[in-house]
Amino acid sequence: MLNIELQSCALVMLLVLLVIFIGERALDLRSRKLYLRALISCIICLILDISSIIGISAANAGTIAPGFARLICKLYICSLVIQSYEGLQYAAGEFYALDAHKKIRRFFSLTLVLGVILVAILPINYFIMGRVVFSYGPSTVATYVFTLLYIGMTIALAFYKSDTTSGRRRRAILCWQGCWLCAALVQLTHPTILVVGLAAAFGMMILYAELENPHEGIDRATGLYTSNALLDYMRDRYDTGRHFSSIFILVDYATQSPSTEVERTVMIRMANYLRRFSGTHCFRQSDKGLTLLFEEGGRMDSLYQTISEELPIVIGYPVRLHYILLRTSKITDRFEECINAHSYLLTQMEGKKAVEMDADTIAHIKNYATVREMIEDAMKDGRVEVFFQPIYNVKEKIFTSAEALVRIRDEDGRVVPPGMFIPVAEENGLIIPLGEEIFRQVCALLATGKPQEYGIQYIEVNLSVAQFDQEDLADRFIAIMEEYGIKPYWLNLEITETASSSAKRILLSNMKKLKEKGVTFSLDDFGTGRSNLDYFVEMPVEIIKFDYSFTQAYFTSKKARTVMESVITMMHRMGLFIVSEGVETRDQLDAMAGLGVNYIQGYYFSKPIPRDEFTDFLKDKNPVW
Ligand code: C2E
Ligand code: CA
Ligand code: CA
Repeated sequence: MLNIELQSCALVMLLVLLVIFIGERALDLRSRKLYLRALISCIICLILDISSIIGISAANAGTIAPGFARLICKLYICSLVIQSYEGLQYAAGEFYALDAHKKIRRFFSLTLVLGVILVAILPINYFIMGRVVFSYGPSTVATYVFTLLYIGMTIALAFYKSDTTSGRRRRAILCWQGCWLCAALVQLTHPTILVVGLAAAFGMMILYAELENPHEGIDRATGLYTSNALLDYMRDRYDTGRHFSSIFILVDYATQSPSTEVERTVMIRMANYLRRFSGTHCFRQSDKGLTLLFEEGGRMDSLYQTISEELPIVIGYPVRLHYILLRTSKITDRFEECINAHSYLLTQMEGKKAVEMDADTIAHIKNYATVREMIEDAMKDGRVEVFFQPIYNVKEKIFTSAEALVRIRDEDGRVVPPGMFIPVAEENGLIIPLGEEIFRQVCALLATGKPQEYGIQYIEVNLSVAQFDQEDLADRFIAIMEEYGIKPYWLNLEITETASSSAKRILLSNMKKLKEKGVTFSLDDFGTGRSNLDYFVEMPVEIIKFDYSFTQAYFTSKKARTVMESVITMMHRMGLFIVSEGVETRDQLDAMAGLGVNYIQGYYFSKPIPRDEFTDFLKDKNPVW
């Protein structure tokens, strides 16, 4: 009886696995290709293992020439080296990105060539007695050396990359290699138990179950790939430079909050519909979002058109659908940027049916990231600075107030204007700590008493919508004023309109608390879309600030002139004071003063200037002092 039972079992196992593996509907991931190579080399190795035992027995019985049996033995041990090499490649593919893996492969393929040549040219012998069959000699020793090298490297990698790969991957790979080593040990000490082939097959099964089973990445409810599978797949495609297009579809239930049942049904209907498009992969990204991914090329427009026409009918519920279209993944060569751009666009979709993820989106994200870093660094290094722009009091003919305007100095000492970073800070919430820093600096100046000494009655500080959206803003500002010993009426806060009614409620409650202390308020940007008539009527403000564009329009448009004249009359009747911003010439100053504007702010008098320059300016210009 030939000692090939265990190997035959293993071979059957692997052939079944191969059939399952090939027949599966799965994403064409790099790891799958590497696994397939390892699987096939394992099968070939088993076939040669069995053949070598049959060959040795036949040579022993005199049916074939011993040289032929030796040849089969050599083929077998060569395949053993190749199999362990493929195992290492699979593991390296798991642990390294494509570029690094290529380098590793290049190095080890040289060792493989060397190994195979050595095994081929060195002499080999075999031994057979009953069920004890083995080969020996220099060629076999070379096999041991190379096989151990690859197995050792695989295990070393699993430990070395422990902090960058998931524990599950490492465990599966260690288990597989461990099986192999143990089997080799058993076989070495008990030559009748030929378990190496079986152990290798067992290892392949473990890898399949743990890492390569595509059902893992499939959502039970819809049969679509999961969001994890999407991440894996995108990463893989970026890694291997295979570009793609995608359509992300978001279901918006508008006002109703749908039951789980409805959500599920909608998802299933969408999934069943989208599966029809051949050459695409569909992923369920969340309870409300799906992604359709396909080869980059000209299909985007026709697919989008068909889907956006048919999908609402297929869904059969009153929902709104939004789309994010990615024409080509080439817009960035970093997977993470694509993911960031997607999250960013999700926040920009309100009211829009479709948005494109394009090079501009990526540029925005990049800029956003660098600006964010710039603000954070500036705050850390104390490079946030407040400039002051004096405001002229028409009646008293001196400068009685000023607007505080933030600046950042870059590392080379150049001034960065707020237009570069305020919008970003508003978007990402940094405006909260930044706004507090600005407020502190203004308080610090007022605490010196110098501006007041030179005629300043109050300083205007800008507040962004995102700031007064905070319930505890008033309390924090009051605490800061107390800390610096500031009289609240030395401060005037500039606000703008907010569309959201909840923000308005919070704003009003903050304003109330601050007003009780004596802080006053201005409505900024009047005459732009941001602040309008109906708004100032309901806001408890004392001052209205005409925006630069509104002031300028007075001199260029007759209509604007009429509007401004009647608005001024009305505001004065309501007891409000008016600041005209953006006054750049003597004529403009005279015209505004003639209209009854109370305060003038603009380059005609001064640009915003640093704190020390500002006090010098007051000393110089306010004649009483
Ligand atoms: P804003 O509140 O409307 O500030 C007035 C802007 O007009 C300032 O620009 C000022 O330098 C500019 N300006 C003043 N007079 C003239 C003029 O005669 N001609 C022209 N062309 N421009 C004039 P700046 O300092 O670049 O600020 C831009 C915007 O950034 C501000 O508009 C405000 O919305 C925001 N901002 C500035 N500082 C702060 C701050 O401390 N906190 C917050 N939340 N926002 C700020
Ligand atoms: Ca302002
Ligand atoms: Ca303004």
